[in-house]
Amino acid sequence: DAPLEQADPEVAAAIAAELHRQQSTLEMIASENFAAVAAMQAQGSVLTNKYAEGYPGRRYYGGCENVDVIERLAIERIKGLFGAGFANVQPHSGAQANAAAMQALIKPGDTILGLSLAHGGHLTHGMRINFSGLLYDVAAYEVSKEDHRVDMEEVARLARAHRPKLIIAGWSAYPRQLDFARFREIADEVGAYLMVDMAHFAGLVAAGLHPSPVPHAHVTTTTTHKTLGGPRGGVILTNDADLAKKINSAVFPGQQGGPLEHVIAAKAVAFKMAADPQFTERAQRTIDGAQALAARLVQDDCAAAGVKVLTGGTDVHLVLVDLRDSELDGKQAEDRLHDIGITVNRNAVPFDPRPPMVTSGLRIGAPALATRGFDTADFAEVADIIAAALIAPVGELDTDLAASLRARVSALAASRPLYPNL
Ligand code: PLP
Repeated sequence: DAPLEQADPEVAAAIAAELHRQQSTLEMIASENFAAVAAMQAQGSVLTNKYAEGYPGRRYYGGCENVDVIERLAIERIKGLFGAGFANVQPHSGAQANAAAMQALIKPGDTILGLSLAHGGHLTHGMRINFSGLLYDVAAYEVSKEDHRVDMEEVARLARAHRPKLIIAGWSAYPRQLDFARFREIADEVGAYLMVDMAHFAGLVAAGLHPSPVPHAHVTTTTTHKTLGGPRGGVILTNDADLAKKINSAVFPGQQGGPLEHVIAAKAVAFKMAADPQFTERAQRTIDGAQALAARLVQDDCAAAGVKVLTGGTDVHLVLVDLRDSELDGKQAEDRLHDIGITVNRNAVPFDPRPPMVTSGLRIGAPALATRGFDTADFAEVADIIAAALIAPVGELDTDLAASLRARVSALAASRPLYPNL
């Protein structure tokens, strides 16, 4: 029973290096966050040893009395958080949650209608070589060319033309709120189910700072590790008792074997924290931080360098930077920020002329920094650093400028310590 440092020094060293990376740089990948130490303790516990196929009170293995307590806590807490009648907390990830929800709702060969990947949708919403594109017949809606927002009349037109069995609302890269009530009207009109994948904005919904899709959707899926701030995982919610049964059998035995009870324990801890007023305050700082970034990136110096903000701002936790008119492409911009200690991901913008490995955009998120305690002044400073890095002409982020930006990043990181006791 040697500790990790002795049993496996190579893995221990890489974990230590990763802790240092997270502490010393600024994490702005919109889908990431920092889980609480308490949640990580639950996940790194003896629960990893336990088989528990089935559901609380109905397991296929003995010795499940403790994991039953934990899974019931997770279920009740997330039902309370989102006002849902039913929750399945076993999906190993957001992709697994979507696969199971779709298996519960429709059959292979049925048509699905989701937001195109190139316009901000997720792989599981119908991408060609994802299970969703392989199993189902895919129709996709796009954002409008004029304002880069989802046009509900276009969704209605496509729904009438394709008669999908399932309409998917939700996104991985979109800076605005969706009209869930209108999505449901369209689904009802064409006889489709509505699934909302709130993976990105679930934490904002839990905080009451974003409309909830749960009353409108037949089924709502989410991840637990993005704005919700918990361990990596997925959840499926519904208010329909018949669908609840189908969802349970689609998750197990449909898609998965034994649930990860150590992760479910960490989910339970995170759901408890998400019901706390502190979580709401953090979610508000998240949105304020994203809006501060957008406000900086629409100023004249950015416009002059061809750096723009898609839709002109944000209602959520992320900003999409449009570099189609900039000399810098998405890859160069991502590398430039990485070089000064800010981690983001390049992202295709709608109607992107550059290839997917290069792209003309950046997706920049505020959740992880808000969790770290960043306030409006901190976010204004980050925004200014990012603007300075992006508007320097290609080849001219000279060593002096880069060094000064790196120093400003380090000062911010030092002023908001992350995991100080780890
Ligand atoms: N759904 C949406 C909207 C997402 O953005 C993501 C992750 O990026 C997923 C589902 C999949 O989650 P996971 O990576 O846990 O499978």
